[in-house]
Amino acid sequence: MATLSPLLKQATPVLAERGEGVYLYDGDGRRYLDFTAGIGVTNTGHCHPRVVEAAQKQVATLIHGQYTTVMHRPLLRLVEALGDVLPPALDSVFFLNSGSEAVEASIRLARHATGRQNIVVFHGSFHGRTMGAAALTTAGTKFRAGIGPLMPGAVVAPFPQAYRYGWDEDEAVRFALRELDYVLATTSPAADTAAFMVEPVLGEGGYIPAPPAFLEGLRERADRHGVLLIVDEVQTGYGRTGEFWGHEHSAMRPDVLITAKGLASGFPLSAIAAPASIMEKAWPGSQGGTYGGNAVSCAAALATLEVVRDEGLVANAARLGARLNDGLRKVAADHPVIGDVRGLGLMQAGEFTTPDGEPDAATAQRAHRAAADRGLLLLTCGAFGNVVRLIPPLVVNEQQIDEGLALWADAVAEATA
Ligand code: PMP
Repeated sequence: MATLSPLLKQATPVLAERGEGVYLYDGDGRRYLDFTAGIGVTNTGHCHPRVVEAAQKQVATLIHGQYTTVMHRPLLRLVEALGDVLPPALDSVFFLNSGSEAVEASIRLARHATGRQNIVVFHGSFHGRTMGAAALTTAGTKFRAGIGPLMPGAVVAPFPQAYRYGWDEDEAVRFALRELDYVLATTSPAADTAAFMVEPVLGEGGYIPAPPAFLEGLRERADRHGVLLIVDEVQTGYGRTGEFWGHEHSAMRPDVLITAKGLASGFPLSAIAAPASIMEKAWPGSQGGTYGGNAVSCAAALATLEVVRDEGLVANAARLGARLNDGLRKVAADHPVIGDVRGLGLMQAGEFTTPDGEPDAATAQRAHRAAADRGLLLLTCGAFGNVVRLIPPLVVNEQQIDEGLALWADAVAEATA
């Protein structure tokens, strides 16, 4: 008899039978408000009828085309549709299955395109669990410990974590950019540096928005040194932050963009986009995969794009994100253990700290559990596990945000009683 491997860690005890919109239901019919969205994936809500219909139609027509053998229309149509939402310069796209695979693909592309090896990432980064992506992941030792040696050529520079340093945002940006200059002068010379890779909001690392001046400073340095700027929009893309792409909160425009998660509403699909002039520098046939650009996933992604556009989900994320942030601030005002509330759009979090400013993971974990007991599903993040994040599907409405906030206030009260 086989049993599920104990190496998996499950954030909640829920056995989900069914999902609809912002709710999940277990076998006993208990309803849960899902403010995890499958780790920021089900932006259109669980089982959006248009996504379901598109996928069902495609399943009955062609499931597996295999894009290195034959081409299929859902993929070609998706390429065209992505052209409407991608930064105009990023006019060449290809597909893989997961965020990690797309990160791997971007490492290969950057190395091919520049003939250089190093990838600079920013402390607290999460880029995935495959071995190359794990080398670029600095959001917690659990993602790296005991699995080395990891891919050489990963270099770490500071991310502007203002709250952690007790600085204002400008100071944190100045520090991070100066340290990046120092890294380039001491550790990873421009001639060896293929790319900077950055998340517009540090995700697993603690939900810390990158200040626009930081992203713009990276752009300036990338241009000056001939380094590619890769933006990992796996968690921040598809309207999550209140702009279609997280980097659009700044004036920075990337050379390479990685997307996954919200792209296909839960079907496995990821993509990288770059100017054709960069893609042309990769060796033909050097990238690909058996399942990349699966026809059903591409059909679901096309429907997802239509839903995001037709239902105004980007604007909804901005509007309801502000409401969620306001409400979280009110709860934090009553409970000083929540030392910081931050986020962009519907990517919001509260950081739990002791009175002397140390991470308070125990209270964060109690609040997280108390929320689940009340039917509100949340996730934690941050290197110390002391940040609780709220990521509702982008179809959420005001009443559901308020319902989530009321449950959160009760959960925090229980955790601090
Ligand atoms: N990059 C970022 C920013 C992510 O948040 C994640 C997943 N949490 C990944 C990459 C890896 O994606 P996947 O789990 O699909 O491999």
